[in-house]
Amino acid sequence: MLDKSRHALFLDFDGTLVGFADDPDGIRLEPGTVERLKALEVRQDGAVALVSGRALSSIDRFLAPLAFPAAGVHGQEIRFHPGEGIEAAPPPEAMAVARERLSKEIGEGDRLKVEDKGAALVIHYRTAPEAETRAGELGEAAIAGLGGLRLVKGHAIVEIRPDNVDKGKAIERLMARPPFAGRAPVFLGDDTTDEDGFRFAAGRGGFGVKVGSGETEAAYRLADVPAVHHWLEEVAK
Ligand SMILES: [Mg+2]
Repeated sequence: MLDKSRHALFLDFDGTLVGFADDPDGIRLEPGTVERLKALEVRQDGAVALVSGRALSSIDRFLAPLAFPAAGVHGQEIRFHPGEGIEAAPPPEAMAVARERLSKEIGEGDRLKVEDKGAALVIHYRTAPEAETRAGELGEAAIAGLGGLRLVKGHAIVEIRPDNVDKGKAIERLMARPPFAGRAPVFLGDDTTDEDGFRFAAGRGGFGVKVGSGETEAAYRLADVPAVHHWLEEVAK
């Protein structure tokens, strides 16, 4: 399914390679994750990258000592080669206004938590499912009347992010360079925000793999995080 010389592999992180935790810092990697990724990287001649909504500093913390080519914060951050610096586009100025508005509404002790990724703001309601509607309303209010930002809903989150980045564009930028250029992209992801990546992969002769249930444009599906690891293990053999 994954051709070692024809395909480039792009992997989402949360919900794809690792299960969710109440606290994004509290996730636990499946045993052997780093070794499995390393084997894949060798097999694909380096054409393996992570494409995540997380900041790259956070991904690096979990996957050290490996440092893949990677896109973080949905493409706001990018690193083309391991060991190189991270290129980060400055967020739109409106982000500061949205941040200020949110800080007035969601303070200490609130059931909703705000994660400030610099280039994006995330309202988490995983531990407060009853607050989903409020999270959406606060997100809407935070960007009301501002240009350059959009609101995206994901797994127990509402995220404010620049409207000029998405995972499809992030994969496209990585694909422009070796070792990805000339290959067909294959992208694994679990969330609505991964659909841009699935569409881009299909348009370039590759395919998407949706992890979990829910509507998708991806051509294939894997049930859950353990199924992803099983598949990666089989591929790496
Ligand atoms: Mg995900």
